[in-house]
Amino acid sequence: MTHSPGVGRPIYNSMHPARQHLCMTYMKCQHCGLPASRNQDGWLFLDWRKPWDPPTWPEGSLTEMPPLCERHARMAIERCPHLSREDFVVLRARTPKLWGVFGTAYELTVDGWRTQAVDVMRPYGDEGLKAVLASRTVRELRAVAVVDLREVL
Ligand SMILES: [Zn+2]
Repeated sequence: MTHSPGVGRPIYNSMHPARQHLCMTYMKCQHCGLPASRNQDGWLFLDWRKPWDPPTWPEGSLTEMPPLCERHARMAIERCPHLSREDFVVLRARTPKLWGVFGTAYELTVDGWRTQAVDVMRPYGDEGLKAVLASRTVRELRAVAVVDLREVL
């Protein structure tokens, strides 16, 4: 992917890997790059249930979606087709812990390096992490409080 900050229109379900990493690492809004919204209940995220989420979801959710400022959370809810089709929640997480990465796993075989058919999530410290080409940074959302949509819109 090319790197052209400030150029073009957002593609909500295909975030640039470098932007995603920077926003996740430094808690910046995934849309504007300014500091994400944070109050006494925590950082502002949008999240939806995924197959790997724990039964406590959204508590403990593993997310690849960086936080948002309030303005762009409203805009995403209004305009993102993915959010209009899926069940999702607006939440605040007091402890969004850096957890690991999502990416392509490689395996060394007698014929050379091979990739697995599907991308994987690997936590930091996992032995398999050494053979993953990361495309997204993952945070684990802890101390979660679901926010009433009317408070955001
Ligand atoms: Zn923003």
